[in-house]
Amino acid sequence: MLKLHPSIDNGFPPAGPGFQGGTLKCKCATNPVTVQISSQTAHNHACGCTKCWKPEGAVFSQIAVVGRDNVTVTSGSERLQIVDPSATIQRYACRDCGTHMYGRIENTKHPFYGLDFVHTELSDETGWSPPQFAAFVSSVIESGVNPERMPEIRARLTELGLPPYDCLSPALMDAIATHIAKQTGALPA
Ligand SMILES: [Zn+2]
Ligand SMILES: [Zn+2]
Repeated sequence: MLKLHPSIDNGFPPAGPGFQGGTLKCKCATNPVTVQISSQTAHNHACGCTKCWKPEGAVFSQIAVVGRDNVTVTSGSERLQIVDPSATIQRYACRDCGTHMYGRIENTKHPFYGLDFVHTELSDETGWSPPQFAAFVSSVIESGVNPERMPEIRARLTELGLPPYDCLSPALMDAIATHIAKQTGALPA
């Protein structure tokens, strides 16, 4: 069977009512870096881009957002390194195992400023918001997926209840465009 991501391939549970977060742990067997997330996440999705961290063998990553004030590194902060300091999203990864622990935007004008990007599969808790769509699907080709497999991949995502998009979802693309229009004055702020 087509394998997209271990947390997605077999379906996924709904969000837990009143769920209030948990602890993300990197893949180091001893002394993992830990990050406390103190709220539920939003906009969880499968991502096909080449920048998001993926578990071994996965075609997609799974990534959600949470307010940056709800993200606290609770151990191993000295082992976190920014993967690409020039990128819009500063992805903090464990220097030993490479797992991305959170991604942060420092540009205050960016539409997603204030939101951190996290992989909730790194937590043992259940109840996180489930994935809702698949973003940047065509980009998996840039990771080496044969383009001929794309119809099969899009069909499987649709079957799992994750509408496949080649950028972000319409709701998020609309949010970005609205933010820009308010900055330029095309819409009232
Ligand atoms: Zn690690
Ligand atoms: Zn991505």
